[in-house]
Amino acid sequence: MFRAGIDTIRVVVDHVPEFQSLIAMDIDPKEKVKFAYFGYVTGSKDDPDKTIEFHLDQNEIVMHFPECNECWEIIEEGKNLSGFTKPSCSYVRGLVYQVAGVIKEVKSVTSKEETCRLTGAEECRFRITFELG
Ligand SMILES: [Zn+2]
Repeated sequence: MFRAGIDTIRVVVDHVPEFQSLIAMDIDPKEKVKFAYFGYVTGSKDDPDKTIEFHLDQNEIVMHFPECNECWEIIEEGKNLSGFTKPSCSYVRGLVYQVAGVIKEVKSVTSKEETCRLTGAEECRFRITFELG
């Protein structure tokens, strides 16, 4: 699923001219990363102020999804969640990974799901770290 998330963002970038212009812009790469996450979140109709924490001095972004797109259906159905012992939203983890991954100045990215609604947390929370080349 992680790979599928990455592929989804690749397709989005191929079809959204604004993303391509952003990638080509000659600006501070950290600002570029910030705009990419901002665009991703507003494109998904989420509120950037509530969803994204930027720690750009540490090359880090934290994303909060109290209504995670991946697990909401399982939770709505009230299924037995005891089978989930660790964060399990790997599709979304791939999506938020690749938002930084499309920026050409970004040489490496990590994406970790720190808390997950499937294991009883209030939100699925992802921490993304990146290194510039
Ligand atoms: Zn989750």
